[in-house]
Amino acid sequence: RISKDKCDELTNLTVAVRVRPMNSRELAYIGATNIVKTNQNELIIHSNSNLSMSTDHIFQYDHVFWSCDESDKNYASQECVFSTIAEPLLANAFRGYNACLFAYGQTGSGKSFSMMGDMCSNMDCDKTAGITPRFCKRLFEKLKEIQDTITASIELSYFEIYNEKIHDLLACNVGSNKTALKVREHPVWGPYVVDLSVHVVNSYEEMKERLLIGNKNRVTAATLMNEKSSRSHSIFSIELNLSERLDESSSSRRSKVSLVDLAGSERLGNLYNNEEKIREGVSINKSLLTLGKVISALSEYKKGNIFVPYRDSVLTWLLRESLGGNSLTSMLATITPANTHIDETLATLRYACQAR
Ligand code: ADP
Repeated sequence: RISKDKCDELTNLTVAVRVRPMNSRELAYIGATNIVKTNQNELIIHSNSNLSMSTDHIFQYDHVFWSCDESDKNYASQECVFSTIAEPLLANAFRGYNACLFAYGQTGSGKSFSMMGDMCSNMDCDKTAGITPRFCKRLFEKLKEIQDTITASIELSYFEIYNEKIHDLLACNVGSNKTALKVREHPVWGPYVVDLSVHVVNSYEEMKERLLIGNKNRVTAATLMNEKSSRSHSIFSIELNLSERLDESSSSRRSKVSLVDLAGSERLGNLYNNEEKIREGVSINKSLLTLGKVISALSEYKKGNIFVPYRDSVLTWLLRESLGGNSLTSMLATITPANTHIDETLATLRYACQAR
């Protein structure tokens, strides 16, 4: 039996899936098998939980990254993932358009590895570095290429949303029991976080330093609150202001790129598989749920349905100016190939398909 989910064409949104290697815990589990196969942009999940019948679920995405085995000729490296789904956002930002990139998946499926890379590495863009440090590095390389005609200013912020509350990851007093920051709307630039610290950076080194501080603060804040950082969304936001010096005049462009490591989707996965849980009122992650609705509403919007529920969650409200319109959005869904997590994996794959 074959069930087939196919994503529609929607050019501003790119949806990709990445499969990580099995970890030692999964390998040690008796009866553990790899149930994922890929065929270009198709991903096939082979399940035989039902003894009498096995089912192949086939999903299609814009890109499928197979990152299970480095010796495999189809292995998708960190650079491959970056250049396919993140580099186009950078090019778009230089043209003055906003962009967002999300990593979505259950805890332990490879979101942070894809976004940041190996946290122990020095992020000097060796082969383990993830999308965010690569993005920052490429940004300054591109600026260098055009520095004769263009003056640039780069500002960044780094914050997290936990339980619909915003905390600055680059403030001096991270993790102390201070009140959460509020969102307001600017008449021209749209929603913004009041009192969020903004940092002007002039080099990749300066950016990297903030990134490392923010990552450390994310862990500290989670420990202080006795919570796991996997329950919060982290948003690394870069604002690019470019002024072009023309012969007799000048023109300027402004754009914003948000690189988002979303909270673990596990509770949402259960929800998707168990309608009853909704009625029980289980606490779920509102931002994740709304993000799915917003992205799917945006594709409906193109077909004439005009209501997009941005204000239903803090994350989507804040990213409103970066979703839809001329903005580019990439969603990277991360999964494990192990049969032990098949329910979560299927929920993630459906979310990613539904988003279209
Ligand atoms: P998440 O952020 O989704 O909770 P992590 O990114 O922390 O998950 O990944 C869990 C573990 O799996 C980490 O030890 C990470 O190094 C490893 N891992 C994840 N993705 C890959 C990959 N593509 N290749 C190698 N190791 C990976």
